[in-house]
Amino acid sequence: MTTVDLPLLPLGRGKDLSAERGVECPGDLPPASDPHLVARAEAAKAKLGSKVFVLGHHYQRDEVIQFADVTGDSFKLARDAAGRPDAEYIVFCGVHFMAESADILTSPDQKVILPDLAAGCSMADMARLAQVEDAWDALVDAGVADQVVPITYMNSSADIKAFCGKHDGAVCTSSNADVALEWAFAQKGPGAKVLFFPDQHLGRNTAVLKLGMSLDDCVVWNPLLPHGGLTDEQLRDAKMILWKGHCSVHGRFSADVVDDLRATIPGVKVLVHPECAHEVVLKADLVGSTEFIIKTIEAAEPGTSWAIGTELNLVQRLAKNHPDKQITFLDKTVCYCSTMNRIDLPHLVWALESLVDGTVVNRIEVDPETERWAKVALQRMLDLPGKSSRD
Ligand code: SF4
Repeated sequence: MTTVDLPLLPLGRGKDLSAERGVECPGDLPPASDPHLVARAEAAKAKLGSKVFVLGHHYQRDEVIQFADVTGDSFKLARDAAGRPDAEYIVFCGVHFMAESADILTSPDQKVILPDLAAGCSMADMARLAQVEDAWDALVDAGVADQVVPITYMNSSADIKAFCGKHDGAVCTSSNADVALEWAFAQKGPGAKVLFFPDQHLGRNTAVLKLGMSLDDCVVWNPLLPHGGLTDEQLRDAKMILWKGHCSVHGRFSADVVDDLRATIPGVKVLVHPECAHEVVLKADLVGSTEFIIKTIEAAEPGTSWAIGTELNLVQRLAKNHPDKQITFLDKTVCYCSTMNRIDLPHLVWALESLVDGTVVNRIEVDPETERWAKVALQRMLDLPGKSSRD
């Protein structure tokens, strides 16, 4: 029997602090069975007062969200953090790339803390800087790099954002990806191309459904294959060069479940995130960002039925908060985002109590050079016309 050495680093093992991958997170954590965890978190937060600002991503567990001063998507939270320059400590209940973005957008004096360093993002991990640089070299060799604008989704590591900043590209979110693509194509005129990472689905869905391209205009660069698995001719012919990355949660929703639900729930409306596969998005009634999903449900008429394709913690919270609407999770086999769920109450208590004791644990710091170029790419996104910059 032959074995294959897969380039995977299981969460919680090994150290790779420069990436989104999971790392050891040693700490004197309180046991999850401690009945006083809620009281301990409340007491620590009260002692820290306005010195601490706790951010909670929509996909976090309820036990953590209850301590968030603000909730939101990754970009909103980073901006919220920037809006609190008086807060010495920003405790980011989300994943690693989000804490990096908060560090980039806050002042050097503010300390951004991720309660569990193993809370990475598998999608962000799928585009590593060395791989992206290899892809760019291949585009140079193919004679097309001058026509290519790199666009990265917000869900990427800081060094990938910096790469885009250095190469005349930008960051986008799932709600402004269409505007970002239009901007990118306008930069280079006829023959322009976009190298889009890390989420192939967001790139494809936006190019085809919002910009009217065909699937044939898109090719997929597989960083695990020589030359991305593409010929120079394919690179020259493509308009969209999609990175072979995906969200391990949204990528699991399947189109046949949409058919099954429509057969069993009369009048159900299917609402999905654009990180879902193209065939799922094609079958949905509505497609949009996390904030779009929340606003759509808030505005829906009582008595309406919805099947939602996004992270389970958010869908469960929407169902709880809107008992007058029938809200169903789109797929029985899709589970929570495992890395988001690394942040739990014991880790939050540990992080807050450490701060009370004067110890900053799990600080996320982006080096100044990376921060400078990542800010350039983020600023280009902020300068895009029209839409709000939410993911
Ligand atoms: S839901 Fe998907 S994109 Fe978001 S943190 Fe989890 S793996 Fe990453």
